[in-house]
Amino acid sequence: MKYLILVGDGMGDFPVAELAGRTPLEAAAIPAIDELCQKSEFFLTHTVPEGFPPGSDVANMSLMGFDPAVYYTGRAPLEAAAMGIHLAPDETAFRCNLVTLDPGENDQVTMRDFCAGHISNQEAHTLIADLEAACATATFHFKPGVSYRHLVVFKGEHPGIVTVPPHDHIEKDVTAYWQNYRTEPAWKELLDKAGAVLAEHPVNLARIRAGKNPATQIWLWGEGKMPSMPTLPQRFGISGSMISAVDLLKGLGVVGGLTVVNVPGATGYIDTNYEGKAQAACDALRNQDFVFVHLEAPDEAGHQGSLTDKLTAIEDFDRRIVRPIITNLRNRQEAFRVIVTMDHFTPLALRTHVSDPVPTLLYDSREVKKGSGLPFSEKTCRKHDAVTGNRLAAGHQLIEKLLRHE
Ligand SMILES: [Zn+2]
Repeated sequence: MKYLILVGDGMGDFPVAELAGRTPLEAAAIPAIDELCQKSEFFLTHTVPEGFPPGSDVANMSLMGFDPAVYYTGRAPLEAAAMGIHLAPDETAFRCNLVTLDPGENDQVTMRDFCAGHISNQEAHTLIADLEAACATATFHFKPGVSYRHLVVFKGEHPGIVTVPPHDHIEKDVTAYWQNYRTEPAWKELLDKAGAVLAEHPVNLARIRAGKNPATQIWLWGEGKMPSMPTLPQRFGISGSMISAVDLLKGLGVVGGLTVVNVPGATGYIDTNYEGKAQAACDALRNQDFVFVHLEAPDEAGHQGSLTDKLTAIEDFDRRIVRPIITNLRNRQEAFRVIVTMDHFTPLALRTHVSDPVPTLLYDSREVKKGSGLPFSEKTCRKHDAVTGNRLAAGHQLIEKLLRHE
């Protein structure tokens, strides 16, 4: 038996006026998922426990079967794990975004762009290397990641500064947060130096000339120490792989005991290497029991507020991830159980995450029983949930539904 969890990050949404009141998931053409629906069980999955922010870290940790209330320490340490960075007990990892901040009058600061125009790896790595050379101290070090997503590793007592995710404040006044970041002298010095390095940097000057957002500052958030948890192989006696473009998910794979597959050309956006990811999943399932395939693109489209990109991302998820993997397993005559879901909603209207329970389908290739025949959507899963009471007490129990079925 093969087991799969296929995740379209941030795929859930609210009804959209341009779609005549339908959600992107309802409006998108998703024939492969529609076909699974004929024989699928629907759920609503509470991926974000009460009191937690609806981050991809918390939500995907739930989907991987780990209770965030027990194991969650922060997003950045998971990304550190993905990057092969070992954190000592006295070290804390912070996510370091390259962002575009606009200065205004009276020291006012606006978060123009949380990702510095999706800056390229090559440009970002030049900036991070120069930041490390100019700003690193005995307590702060920069570690390069992907595009706008990097890390700062901090040694010593946590300064107690409240950090916030930059993507929650797109085009908003962040003056109060910015001033708060600068209350601690060592942090103020770090941010001042970083701003000076970035201000006249040739990479940024070239970006401005090309009409792109420059990386004017670093923004630290998502901090934590390394978590410790029993792995999926230890808990369920399975072997498996994580297939994702983003470090957060790769880190969850590392701490969860999965093989992390690096797919060339996986970008975390709508131009990702879909075929490579689908092929990697099929290859992993030749020798292993389980794959977790994560597609970042619908979430990024949600943050950008782009309806067109979100529809494209959902349709590509169906046509270029779900369809080829299912077809491959059928051609190999493998019995399989697959969950198709998302970690959270990233509504286009809000351009950030919300905690609503997520639509989820579970399909078993061996079962002949008919499903509801309804399409896979926020509405139908909600309706099904209300009618059947087929509810999971917590999102981290979903994986047990998938794996412990006999
Ligand atoms: Zn997410």
